[in-house]
Amino acid sequence: MKNPNYEAWMLTVGNELLIGRIVNTNASQLGKMLTLMGFKVSRVIVVPDDIDEIVEEVRRAIGRVRLLVTTGGLGPTYDDLTLEAIAKALNRELKVNPEAEAMIREFYSRRGMPITRERLKMAFMPEGARALRNPRGAAPGCIVEEGGTIIVSLPGVPEEMEVMFKSEAFKILEGVSPKVSIVECSLVIKGVPESTIAPAIESTARKYPEIYVKSHPVGFELGAPVIDVRVLASDSDRESAEATALEALAYVKREAVKLGGYADEAYCG
Ligand code: ATP
Ligand code: MG
Repeated sequence: MKNPNYEAWMLTVGNELLIGRIVNTNASQLGKMLTLMGFKVSRVIVVPDDIDEIVEEVRRAIGRVRLLVTTGGLGPTYDDLTLEAIAKALNRELKVNPEAEAMIREFYSRRGMPITRERLKMAFMPEGARALRNPRGAAPGCIVEEGGTIIVSLPGVPEEMEVMFKSEAFKILEGVSPKVSIVECSLVIKGVPESTIAPAIESTARKYPEIYVKSHPVGFELGAPVIDVRVLASDSDRESAEATALEALAYVKREAVKLGGYADEAYCG
């Protein structure tokens, strides 16, 4: 699954993320969605609402990863700087994107609200960018490519981010994501501490080099440790990926039983 052509970074923008006022759920949500599309997510970057900091990280990503997804900073206020920063990082002009302007005009006219300078600000995008419709809010998203890197900018509000990703970005990214199906399967083992099962997890990873396997301690039940073993597998179709993941987990289960533990049936999400 490791392929630099499919490497993706996330750049989450917002002071509130850094001062701990909000939890970076966009990163976890996007991490899941991108991974299931076959991208190899290798970095999450958090920056304040500061143009130079955003520019620096965007420049770092260009030519290095296939995909950079940003969240936040698309709104109408002075501290929403993401698209201005991307234009600067790309040395492109920041100008009104006609598609974005139409979306914004439609959004406010439907609500009987006038267009103001602040509202029109959300239509400014780097030259050559494409606007992404926001079905839940005013600020359009944006997609632009530079040096082999696709930069997708989504809103900060988690619900808007998710809906825009699924309804707009997904279709476009499907064309560049690896043509594989990815599944995640899980096996819950009880009665064996993680340190005891660790060698079996390692030998599973060696035996099935094409999968990603990891154990997660999830607590105790009646004094006995509970470990969730997760496997990510990819293949040309879902059935084959699932079969490999379940075979690997069946091996883990046999090892766990040998160690005096027991496990429920493995399942795939
Ligand atoms: P808006 O149009 O609402 O201003 P925006 O795209 O400019 O949207 P931000 O202003 O950066 O986004 O963030 C809006 C709100 O979304 C934040 O106040 C916060 O509640 C939430 N948010 C932003 N980033 C994240 C994140 N990474 N994870 C979870 N929530 C976030
Ligand atoms: Mg904002």
